Amino acid sequence: MTSPSTPESLPGLDVDVPAEQESTDSPESGGTRSVDPAKARVRRPLVEPRPLDRHGPARVVSLCNQKGGVGKTTSTINLGAALAEFGRRVLLVDFDPQGALSVGLGVQPHTLELTSYNLLMERDVGIDEVLLKTGVAGMDLLPSNIDLSAAEVQLVNEVAREQTLARALAPVLGEYDYVLIDCQPSLGLLTINALTASDGVVIPLECEFFSLRGVALLMDTIDKVQQRLNPKLRLEGVLATMYDGRTLHGRDVYNRVLERFGDDMFDTVIGRTVRFPETTVAGEPITSWAPTSNGAIAYRELAMEVLARS
Ligand code: ADP
Ligand code: MG
Repeated sequence: MTSPSTPESLPGLDVDVPAEQESTDSPESGGTRSVDPAKARVRRPLVEPRPLDRHGPARVVSLCNQKGGVGKTTSTINLGAALAEFGRRVLLVDFDPQGALSVGLGVQPHTLELTSYNLLMERDVGIDEVLLKTGVAGMDLLPSNIDLSAAEVQLVNEVAREQTLARALAPVLGEYDYVLIDCQPSLGLLTINALTASDGVVIPLECEFFSLRGVALLMDTIDKVQQRLNPKLRLEGVLATMYDGRTLHGRDVYNRVLERFGDDMFDTVIGRTVRFPETTVAGEPITSWAPTSNGAIAYRELAMEVLARS
């Protein structure tokens, strides 16, 4: 039985609340609701990563959420750059035809002759022909552009269509410590390919708008891939992004996400700051653009958590 007027507000069903409907609370509102839950949460101790004397085989991690604008691309770039700062060899895979990851690293993907599309669809193209170096030492990029959207359609008729990306990445896994795949905002065949190629999934969730139904669909997809295609796949962690602890709304959403995911949530929370959109224009990660900013520190802490979890 649902109420036709406000189905979203039924407890346990969904908690979609558009940000505009929320008011910020004033300092005098007092009470426990004024406590910033992200700051109040007891964090597990961070461990400084050990230097490596050899590299590989890579742990492959997809950053996945079928909703756009939740921080997938930003987190892929900055987690990757932070892992590279810790001496890890990192490959970032742009697996969104929009090419935002490539652009965020200063690459103009429409000018490229070879991209992930050629790697997936053309047997005679090897991954080494497509890989690019980035401005970050130890971090490479497999770029994409709009051509990749055609692959989604063309792959449907291929044998083992879900394993195409895994097969393409296999030759270089020995050279990297982490491969991070920036997924497109859908649960279509490209994303299934990313999940099939992965050991872990990071789910970025913006602390603006939390849809339990959306998250349920995503978790269901991860479960299905795990059961049918890739038994090693596991949830690496849920990452709260664009958090603003000054607003009641931000804190409410954070608490709901914490209720749903508990220990599966990374302790690190990425705050909302204009420095991230700036980095896109600069074409470099926040760790080099604003190395001492809170955003850079947060992604370094996330990298430490990721290293400790794997
Ligand atoms: P997705 O890849 O999930 O679509 P993006 O990483 O591209 O999301 O982020 C969407 C937009 O939000 C981009 O303009 C990005 O610069 C911005 N953004 C990402 N993270 C933050 C943050 N923590 N604070 C403020 N803006 C952010
Ligand atoms: Mg993106």
